[in-house]
Amino acid sequence: MKEFNLIEHFFKANSGQRKDVIIGIGDDAAVTHIPQGQALVTTTDTLLSGVHFLPDASPHAVAQKAIAVNLSDLAAMGAEPAWISLSLSAPSADEEWLKSFSSGLQELVDYYSIQLIGGDTVQGPLAVTITAQGFVPFEQAITRSGANPGDLVYVTGTIGDAGLGLAIAKNEQAQVSNKSMTEENKAFLLKRLNYPTPRLLTGTKLRRIASACIDLSDGLISDIKHILNMSQCGATINIDKLPLSSALFDSVDKERAVNYALSAGDDYELLFTVSEEQKGNLETTLASANIPVTCIGQLNGSVGKLELYDNGQPYKVDIQGYQHF
Ligand code: ADP
Ligand code: MG
Repeated sequence: MKEFNLIEHFFKANSGQRKDVIIGIGDDAAVTHIPQGQALVTTTDTLLSGVHFLPDASPHAVAQKAIAVNLSDLAAMGAEPAWISLSLSAPSADEEWLKSFSSGLQELVDYYSIQLIGGDTVQGPLAVTITAQGFVPFEQAITRSGANPGDLVYVTGTIGDAGLGLAIAKNEQAQVSNKSMTEENKAFLLKRLNYPTPRLLTGTKLRRIASACIDLSDGLISDIKHILNMSQCGATINIDKLPLSSALFDSVDKERAVNYALSAGDDYELLFTVSEEQKGNLETTLASANIPVTCIGQLNGSVGKLELYDNGQPYKVDIQGYQHF
């Protein structure tokens, strides 16, 4: 299949349909309409075969994860998604691979009511780059720099699951645990790795409530440091408060579960800060939307310093989170 036909068949045909797209796939560039009163939010993330996904990962999962990690960045800004572009580098035009990839893509395009508005297709090592764009009302974007000493630190959902999921995907369960894992727990942990769910509803609910927000892609310790540095704060985190899934907790010993929660990446939960005054507002807003959050610590004025406590006792770890270089 020629490049043109390939784009028509696998991408244009199931790219979604939005009223704010004036020109989508097929011209030299896309033309879109931004609603009044809204700011445009743009983010890009690349998934490289062998680095961000295992070379034998299902193309369906690769497509969905590539979209989800970008939508997670929009969620962390408090934005709602509108459009994505796709730059695909692949060694060959493998139609089976493309069929599975484009079905994964179409499912999420439909689910989130977004539209694929363009991209680029090149021959090369397998890599998927998505650019996602969305909207946030003017002056309501949630940044990494708005936190203050005294603010409470929260995370959504459970953390550490994708870290153990990766060990399972690499068939390294025996190296990380001598407990037996149920098939149900394994399936849950693998799903957390391969099909992360961006916390989009949470992000929009946090507008005007959270003082800062980041999504957890590289691990709690490395990601919270971005907030600490950009907001000029320090933090104490209570590791006995970390929200761990029963699938994680039942599968490995406590110390390893905590290590995954602190340093493994790929969970795509949100970590955010809230002033004491906004605490009540946060709790009612999220409870009415059925969003699980846990308070895991508090910010202070010791700039850049992160202290961990386990039931009030200092807790030592020498882990850094995922390092790209
Ligand atoms: P150009 O050479 O002008 O950049 P291309 O031949 O690369 O045009 O692309 C033709 C059209 O197909 C453009 O509208 C482009 O945005 C779109 N396109 C190319 N590759 C992809 C892709 N992987 N996914 C979605 N749209 C794509
Ligand atoms: Mg091009």
